Amino acid sequence: MIAMSRASLAYYTNLIKTVSREDWKAALTALFVTLRETFVFDNLAIYVCDHAGGLPEVIFARAVGRGKSREADASWGEEIATQVLAVEGIVMAAPTEDSDDRIAMAHRLGLPLPLVDGCGVLVFVRFGGPTFLVEETSLAVLAAAQTARILERRSLREHMTQLELARHRAQLQDDFIATVSHDLHTPLGFIKGYATSLLRPDTTWDIETQREFLTIIDEESDHLIDLIDRLLDSARLQSGMLDMDFQPVRLDTLLRDVVLRSRGRTPSLEVNLDLQPIEPIQADNVRLGQVFENLLDNAAKYAPDTPVTIRLESLDGKAVISVSDRGPGISAEHMPFIFERFYRVPEQSSKRGTGLGLFICKQIVQAHRGRITVHTAPGKGTSFRIELPVKQEKGKKA
Ligand code: ADP
Repeated sequence: MIAMSRASLAYYTNLIKTVSREDWKAALTALFVTLRETFVFDNLAIYVCDHAGGLPEVIFARAVGRGKSREADASWGEEIATQVLAVEGIVMAAPTEDSDDRIAMAHRLGLPLPLVDGCGVLVFVRFGGPTFLVEETSLAVLAAAQTARILERRSLREHMTQLELARHRAQLQDDFIATVSHDLHTPLGFIKGYATSLLRPDTTWDIETQREFLTIIDEESDHLIDLIDRLLDSARLQSGMLDMDFQPVRLDTLLRDVVLRSRGRTPSLEVNLDLQPIEPIQADNVRLGQVFENLLDNAAKYAPDTPVTIRLESLDGKAVISVSDRGPGISAEHMPFIFERFYRVPEQSSKRGTGLGLFICKQIVQAHRGRITVHTAPGKGTSFRIELPVKQEKGKKA
């Protein structure tokens, strides 16, 4: 369910960009190209009032005739746009002094845009004349009306897309609450159930069964602690409140420690180490250890019974670490999302997880001004690669 929502979120984000950037501008361009066949002008600009009541802001400008410079686009219409808004009607202005520079001889016509909501101005200019005549304005008024309709359609579409986006965000939020409550509830249910069984006054359990129940309680408590830690970490990372303690770190030593700990959790894990001696880097030992541990645990979980290779080398002044397995890989459709918060590949959702691990890894690596990337081939394996700079600014927060 989350996978679907993530994909459509990306779709809607793109959609909103396309709608707002492309459609309405193309429609306006077509309108003014047609208009110019019967109504002569060099440049035009559309101004709209901002919501704070400041000066009108240019949102569209075209230079189609003489004086095609960008400067002409931006500056010639501002004054008349302000006048149109003040008088709430058509304003015509001819240059008051003669000049040899045609760009300085701007004849301008400004018309209010009949917008249902908000205000705006359409301004035309003829550099060097002829002066706009009152009899000519009817076509310009028609163009202003069309312009207003196009702009209203644009904002209507933007509102609709925003609404869709908000609905999808709410859906993601619902998915998140459902996932977290399920993930919190499941271990708690086990813990409560087995503890209640052990405490039943009418039953006595042999030592072996007691141990079995206590082991389950112990493991489920670990899952709970892990989930809560990850939720807290991800919340802190998102709000930039996770402190980083940068110290000189020997990556080969750290990687060996992590492997040792992972083997403690998964004794069958086969890990090949190819660690080149590199100089210590400035890093947060604990947080970086968390990243490697997560990648190794993922390899053990999603690529069970296949060997994992960890490499460390120095490349172009950076420390480069890769963790590669020979498991099922990740299919292309999921690749854009796997570093996102709570994203899990649906086919692998039977394996226990939170979808937070890779998100946290990426945030920690970025807090080190590093980069994490993934290369995968379905059926052949997955390789995570981390590049870290050797030096850091001290006392940085994530
Ligand atoms: P979790 O493991 O808790 O689900 P992660 O954020 O660590 O969350 O991983 C996100 C998803 O990426 C996993 O659900 C899994 O589908 C996929 N994934 C991560 N590592 C591997 C791997 N080594 N091989 C295959 N898939 C992986």
